[in-house]
Amino acid sequence: MNSVAKRLYFKREVVDGLLDYSNSNHPREGILLIRGKVKKDEIVVTQLIIPPLATHGESFSSFPTYMLPLDASILGVAHSHPSGTVAPSHGDLQNFWGRLMVIIGYPYEDEGDIGVFDREGARAIFTVID
Ligand SMILES: [Zn+2]
Repeated sequence: MNSVAKRLYFKREVVDGLLDYSNSNHPREGILLIRGKVKKDEIVVTQLIIPPLATHGESFSSFPTYMLPLDASILGVAHSHPSGTVAPSHGDLQNFWGRLMVIIGYPYEDEGDIGVFDREGARAIFTVID
């Protein structure tokens, strides 16, 4: 059972963007907003946005999520874990915002280094589409 959505898709360019952005910020955390379309049982993640308030060296747990735009197409926040752990920390779950949380773990090589989580911290399965 996938608690984020019955069907969860990430566009290939989103996956590549998450990996590239994480890589270019390493060893600091990279933070991105994820945007997409929600239908009844389906979520398609289509776009990444660099958050307006991101400053270099800021970590997700100090990121001011209360200042994020009220835009229903923004589904959640993605951030990298330079440590390589693809799991939310306690602080990550306390700062959960939106419908899903994406964590990209070092070495940021492919979608196997990307984890999608619900607000309980349960990992969701996603499919990469072109
Ligand atoms: Zn984290």
